[in-house]
Amino acid sequence: MERIVEIIRGAEKVLVVGHIMPDGDDISSVLSLSKGLKLIGKEVMSGIDWKIPWVFEELEEVKDIVDYQKFLNSGFDPDLMVVVDVSSPDRIGNFQELIGKVPVVVIDHHATNDEFADYNWVDRSFGACAQMVFRVNKELGVEYDENLATINLMGVLTDTGFLRFPNADARVYEDATELVKLGGKPHKISSMILENKRTEQFHLFADVLEKMKTELDGKLVYSYITQDMYKKHGCTDEDSTGFVHELRSIRGVEVAVMFMEIKPRLVHVSMRSKEWFDLSSFAKSIGGGGHPRAAGASIEGKDVFEVMNYVVPKLKEEMSRSEKS
Ligand code: AMP
Ligand code: MN
Ligand code: MN
Repeated sequence: MERIVEIIRGAEKVLVVGHIMPDGDDISSVLSLSKGLKLIGKEVMSGIDWKIPWVFEELEEVKDIVDYQKFLNSGFDPDLMVVVDVSSPDRIGNFQELIGKVPVVVIDHHATNDEFADYNWVDRSFGACAQMVFRVNKELGVEYDENLATINLMGVLTDTGFLRFPNADARVYEDATELVKLGGKPHKISSMILENKRTEQFHLFADVLEKMKTELDGKLVYSYITQDMYKKHGCTDEDSTGFVHELRSIRGVEVAVMFMEIKPRLVHVSMRSKEWFDLSSFAKSIGGGGHPRAAGASIEGKDVFEVMNYVVPKLKEEMSRSEKS
């Protein structure tokens, strides 16, 4: 960490980049680091090469995030790119084109991180990347106000399932407490993310439940959403991010999987496990990545049924093998 803090300190124009299909931890990490760097006088641009899910639009700072095209149009010429919550270069979309052209720092907590940057601070023991950003900001002497504390807290809360997943360790609670003491408002985040659902999402979820299948005596549960289902219910992939958690919450389930055709012939596989199955290596074996209890992969050129036919038998086999050993 000391090394990357020195590198960031020495830069003047910093581009802070997050991953495609951004989640709360990623948006929190991008915005918290961007804001921290601005507060200590750097010129900063925040980049995510994907549409920001509507739930996060309540945060004013979200409108300052640019995609790659907008970044190019802006003429901003960074002397450093800091990539947060990202395990491999394909996860930053077209910002990949900057790799090799500007020095790249990565701050990340994924088990599957392949250390692709010039300077990598990868620590798999953190529940959220936002905790790592919190440490970088403090080391840089950033003074936290209520707004920055709330934005930073968002990542700590969302990547730990609001402090209840197995990654919610004592340090997560300590960081959350410290951020609340600095003015962070957990209720603002929970009402924005958890109590802000559209009725269309419930109708889509009802459809998902109807299609749900179980295997291995209920240890594996999965369902899917086709493009037609999204259209039928007036939804997009932004509306279905939490569904996999609902499936995992079923009694006896070890692994829950949602297959979502988020664009024609682009299927996102979202996976969660409860106690013992290591999803990070499984996700890697199908071209994705993630953490032991939460992982994903995006598979192009196949429809939902083709992807399920490929992934489900493989997963059943891996789960049976891992249970026996
Ligand atoms: P998700 O199911 O999309 O919420 O993703 C769960 C976890 O897996 C997150 O930590 C993601 O960063 C990671 N992940 C999701 N999709 C991919 C992918 N295509 N490649 C690598 N990691 C992924
Ligand atoms: Mn993330
Ligand atoms: Mn994360």
